[in-house]
Amino acid sequence: MSSIKSTILGFPRMGSDRQLKKLVESFWAGKITETELVEGSKKLRAEHWALQTSYGLTEVPVGDFSYYDHVLDTAYSVGVVPERYQNLDKDGGIQAYFAMARGLQNKSIGVDVPSLEMKKWFDTNYHFMVPEISDDQQFSLHSTKVVDEFKEAKELGYNARPVVLGPVTLLTLSKAAKGSSSAPLSHLSKLIPVYVELLGQLAASGAEWVQVDEPILALDLDAAVYQPAFDRVYSEFAKISGLKYLLTSYFDRLGDNLAWAAALPVDGIHLDLVRGASDIDAALSTIPADKVISVGLINGRNIWKANLNKQLDTLNKVIAARASASAPVWVSSSCSLLHSPHSLKPETGHLDEETLGWLSFAEEKIEEVAILAAAAIDRSSVEAQLQSNAAKVLSRQQSERITRPAVQQRLASLNETFYSRQAPFTERQQVQRSALQLPLFPTTTIGSFPQTAEVRKARAQFRKGALSASEYQEFLDAETRKCIEWQDEIGLDVLVHGEFERTDMVEFFGENLEGFVFTKKGWVQSYGSRCVKPPVIFGDVSRPKAMTVDVARFAQSCSPNKPVKGMLTGPVTILQWSFVRDDQPRSQTAGQIALAIRDEVVDLEAAGIKVIQVDEPAIREGLPLRKSDYEAYLKWSVDVFRLATTGVRNETQIHSHFCYSDFNEIFTAIKGLDADVITIENSKSDLKLLGALEVHGYAAEIGPGLYDIHSPRVPSVEEMAARFAALQKYIPAENLWANPDCGLKTRGWPEVKESLTNLVAVAKDARKQH
Ligand code: GLN
Ligand code: ZN
Repeated sequence: MSSIKSTILGFPRMGSDRQLKKLVESFWAGKITETELVEGSKKLRAEHWALQTSYGLTEVPVGDFSYYDHVLDTAYSVGVVPERYQNLDKDGGIQAYFAMARGLQNKSIGVDVPSLEMKKWFDTNYHFMVPEISDDQQFSLHSTKVVDEFKEAKELGYNARPVVLGPVTLLTLSKAAKGSSSAPLSHLSKLIPVYVELLGQLAASGAEWVQVDEPILALDLDAAVYQPAFDRVYSEFAKISGLKYLLTSYFDRLGDNLAWAAALPVDGIHLDLVRGASDIDAALSTIPADKVISVGLINGRNIWKANLNKQLDTLNKVIAARASASAPVWVSSSCSLLHSPHSLKPETGHLDEETLGWLSFAEEKIEEVAILAAAAIDRSSVEAQLQSNAAKVLSRQQSERITRPAVQQRLASLNETFYSRQAPFTERQQVQRSALQLPLFPTTTIGSFPQTAEVRKARAQFRKGALSASEYQEFLDAETRKCIEWQDEIGLDVLVHGEFERTDMVEFFGENLEGFVFTKKGWVQSYGSRCVKPPVIFGDVSRPKAMTVDVARFAQSCSPNKPVKGMLTGPVTILQWSFVRDDQPRSQTAGQIALAIRDEVVDLEAAGIKVIQVDEPAIREGLPLRKSDYEAYLKWSVDVFRLATTGVRNETQIHSHFCYSDFNEIFTAIKGLDADVITIENSKSDLKLLGALEVHGYAAEIGPGLYDIHSPRVPSVEEMAARFAALQKYIPAENLWANPDCGLKTRGWPEVKESLTNLVAVAKDARKQH
């Protein structure tokens, strides 16, 4: 074999120093012009192509760049622009695009439109904008972004492969517009010609291969619906002369979709051999010999160095199996590198040498792809790199920093008593009632209070050393005391300390636990210009000392008459929002985190804390993509929550909180958590949650959110009272709590004060009426 194509499915957009974030945010703030935004982005793309080529990748993806989100880009390109945005673009600018992304409120021109809905991209922490398809939807070529970017790359001399999100995935991820009822996919035949027009332009511009992403192929699909839909699309695409298509899917196995996907009239099929490794044998026997197989061997979803020798074995197996095939094999990343941080370079000097040697971010992953491709042709050409890789991989396997035998033994030795409370809920409820003496419809909040500029400034000063530890602590204590006294004054019943000491609910615990490291610039796009910097769990997790007990004790001392909640993050959420070690099952890492949280829960109880909340907002997003994998996940995620929370006496009340209301798939699991009280997002869910409550039956106490905290809008008493009255039809009064949807961290004090005062009034009125 003389040549083997090496490429990746996509590159992170933000830039080495989050340049894109700065560009778009400056543009939104009116600090730079659209031209400056355009030029700055162009420069960024050129840098990213140069980087990929510098490591020897033979082809670069284009069109993977986005100002905000690639699903939005695609929808916008094919004219899926709901009417409310349409007249915003008279000047040919990008107003409508950004209005769809983030809403537009401009009193001077009388515009006030909300954004599209945002949803998680498969099981990642990346959010996409949900396109809205109306019953009379028309499509038209509205933007040629991908064509323009292809030309841009070509002019710079790159061998470029345009990436487009496929029409079947686009429609499957869309929703019917308000007032429309037709299934988005039913509009497919009208959409195909617009894609054909776009692809035609790509062909005319000299593109040869086009990567069409159809990640819904990793989901359970009804073949009777989807096979004909895919057939239709790709038969039409095949008629465009001069173009070849690489059909990609990722994040899970193709599984039973493989049989018909392999037969589609495309020219190549990409396999995610990291998450879909089980596809390999079936793929090798079903993918016809005239189709390229793109093997995704470098994990785009994690930050560990690949075991190159192992991946090379897989690659060689594929190459050997295709020896007589007419089409070649390509080497690639498992999915787009969008979900990896940009580069390890800034971590030198920040992380220790050993840890650095274990990691690989997007830049290093490019190099890994290139090494694999080179090794497949001539192993000796990269022998040194392979050996160095093997040494690093071995160093991680053997490092004493990874293993803590005591933690492993403790987890292995647990018996059933560690997974259940002493008495069932109904008994606990009685004891808790007499211990806590709460009124009917108790009021509470979810935990955080505004992280004001002052709070952030004090933290920054403390980090710089401008504030001493004791000065910073004094500041935090004063904030906490003010916050608690205010909650007491307005009549809330179960108080919180406000979480002023935490930047982030996962980072805080990661910083206090062993087994975690933090990167300096390991940013990953979460949505739009927002990036997160997930901690890295590299080893066995343990708790060197209590993490929240002092704060909780102090907070409770500020409130002689009312309980203050101890506030913890649950094991599944800590796991889900971190980069997790890949050398043991996730469930085991979660179990170790659960033990640490359990010890904290027990310590909080011993310190006199009567109500303890363990937040699990990420339990839903951890749900696997394939239904046949649900059960195993739900079993261990419920187990680890119980492990974390069941070490307490019956009178200690355990709360949990979830930031979504789409509970149908996981309702049994939510019940299985056996929490005494749950608070859930509800205000935007059109009673979806209540329907689920009714269908599945929920017997414990519950606080469906009375207002949306994502907006600065203050909800009136009447509005929340109406919502509260509706809740009472579904939930027995003695089990119902009154609270907002989520934490108040991102809000300002003026609106928080008004909103919560109104909320307390709603509960008080309801008590009188009851
Ligand atoms: N206790 C956290 C807070 O109030 C919960 C945040 C969340 O659910 N995402 O901020
Ligand atoms: Zn929440």
